[in-house]
Amino acid sequence: MKSVEEAVSGAGDASTRASDAVLAVLRRFWGFEGLRPLQLEAIQAGLDRRDSLVVMPTGGGKSLCYQVPPAVAGRTDVVVSPLIALMKDQVDALRLSGYPAAALHSGMAQMEVRDAERELAGGRHHLIFVAPERLLTPRFLDLAARLKVSSFAIDEAHCISQWGHDFRPEYRRLAELKTRFPGASIHAYTATATERVRGDIVDQLGLTDPAVLVGSFDRPNLLYRVRPKLDVNAQIAGTIRRHKGEASIVYSISRNDTERIAAYLTSEGVRAAAYHAGMEADERRRTQDRFAAEEIDVVVATVAFGMGIDRSDIRCVIHAALPKSIEAYQQETGRAGRDGLPAECVLFYSAADVIRWRNLMERSAAESATPPEVLESGKLLLEEVRRFATVVRCRHAALSAYFGETHQGASCGACDFCLGEVEGVADSTVLAQKVLSCVARVEQRFGVEHVVDVLGGASSERVRRLGHEKLSTYGLLKDLPRKTLTNLVYQLVDA
Ligand code: ADP
Ligand code: ZN
Repeated sequence: MKSVEEAVSGAGDASTRASDAVLAVLRRFWGFEGLRPLQLEAIQAGLDRRDSLVVMPTGGGKSLCYQVPPAVAGRTDVVVSPLIALMKDQVDALRLSGYPAAALHSGMAQMEVRDAERELAGGRHHLIFVAPERLLTPRFLDLAARLKVSSFAIDEAHCISQWGHDFRPEYRRLAELKTRFPGASIHAYTATATERVRGDIVDQLGLTDPAVLVGSFDRPNLLYRVRPKLDVNAQIAGTIRRHKGEASIVYSISRNDTERIAAYLTSEGVRAAAYHAGMEADERRRTQDRFAAEEIDVVVATVAFGMGIDRSDIRCVIHAALPKSIEAYQQETGRAGRDGLPAECVLFYSAADVIRWRNLMERSAAESATPPEVLESGKLLLEEVRRFATVVRCRHAALSAYFGETHQGASCGACDFCLGEVEGVADSTVLAQKVLSCVARVEQRFGVEHVVDVLGGASSERVRRLGHEKLSTYGLLKDLPRKTLTNLVYQLVDA
């Protein structure tokens, strides 16, 4: 496959501007005046029926790339999508603007499916949305053959890869598409894919000479901060206070956590509510609506939140706990500042959350008979995000590197590292060595408290009794706040 540099295209010059037919369709159904750079190439691949892999961040405008070609070419294409809710939303929105589309999914009654199929057989629809498990049923294959479907779009294509963060076994069967429809083109779309996942998507779908179009993942308007997690409730409240009256999202691991944090924030006078998959659909919708209507400022959510929110003025995304992959972090922080204005993302890191995630993964793998290699790649993804949280480096550069991009410029000016907020950064290796050497010299018989006393030069009764003052020659460390020092020791001893 092509390298990223090769694949990223420049903004359209005159020779790459959208054709009149494309512009006419854009105006007719969406009222848009033009395309974004990668959309142009993606739509061209769709029109040429050349296989493609399009990686564009959330909000980049992927759906338009598969919606436009069939409308221009007057054909019926198929979109494979994993989530019924997303399918429904898209179909409703398309129909409202007069674009003929339909969905076939398991949430529909037998009758509805039959009606939709009959309607579709007329051949006047441009898109059929279908779940992966339905796509390969004889009934659907028959319909697709009758409609002479010649182009398939695979949404959330990373779900096909076990190296991705959301592997779905039912996506594996999409590998059959190329043999079932030898002449058809396949267009894969995803918001998050590392090089490895991209390669896997191309291989598994059997894409032939695909156009690989990769957008930029860097979000220069987001300010990233990682802080040691100490008193997390107070830390969250403190961060929210800096964004008084603005929209924020707090992500946490468990349903209980979301409720606890929301209750704490409410007690602090913040207009906050919890949101998680264990709530009734009505209740969830209410929270979502109140957030949209600006009746509440903060939603405290598990990962489930975000699918349906379209508030572009979110000024702050807080991770009360480590997310389980960089992909998840990128998507969740990606909800901030979609209006392009500055927004802040704060991650509160504790090594304990890594252990918590590992336990959760193991338990869920055991319950759902997950193949060992899938569990293993889940743990590797977790390790990557742990490294991101603990590495002493520009956050923008680290995220870009993870997605195979090179971040330009020595300092981004929008992360804790580049702003010089990470204590003792320049000497971090030295710091770590000093801590570890102290741990070794107190002979590992004493707890973190004692090590911190020694390092910080505190003259505690125990330090004196053991004659450990003479170890307190750690200069730099004495200047660190005790909390920072404690956290540093925890991280190193834990590792
Ligand atoms: P994605 O699927 O990549 O997350 P969407 O397809 O949902 O992104 O598009 C994100 C938003 O951008 C939508 O509100 C969409 O209407 C808007 N959008 C997409 N393409 C264009 C365009 N060419 N001009 C103006 N707005 C666009
Ligand atoms: Zn930086």
